Amino acid sequence: MTDPQPTRDIEAVFREKGIPFTRQRRLIWEHFAGSDLAATITEVADALRDDGVGQATVYRTVTLLSDLGLLARVQDRRGEICYTAPAIGHSHPLICGVCRKVVRFDGNGDVKELEARLAEATGFSIYGHHLEVYGICPDCRGKGGTES
Ligand SMILES: [Zn+2]
Ligand SMILES: [Zn+2]
Repeated sequence: MTDPQPTRDIEAVFREKGIPFTRQRRLIWEHFAGSDLAATITEVADALRDDGVGQATVYRTVTLLSDLGLLARVQDRRGEICYTAPAIGHSHPLICGVCRKVVRFDGNGDVKELEARLAEATGFSIYGHHLEVYGICPDCRGKGGTES
């Protein structure tokens, strides 16, 4: 498990934007923040149905959270669109394409080096990057996930 992002930080983001942080939005956020598995909108809606959160609300909230940069959109190996909550600070997700387990890394040294090389080769002044890495986790590899 990764440490869930403190809820007060997310409340501050909503307040700054003047968007109400409703009970349903909080439930949806906490579902992502408390899980180290990337989840689809349908899965989150299924998990929160008993709390009275409908699929349309999950859909709208997930869209809102990703627009605010609070959720990252990733894919599993079958191309299913899933979402995962980034850790605090600069990090990138490494996603298992089979079980959707997410591991975070900062990539600092290597990505900085790549940016410097690119800047030199292209003359661009580089101010940012977006990076996701996909693979098969050790558990899934053990179950023959590389072959199926
Ligand atoms: Zn896996
Ligand atoms: Zn980075």
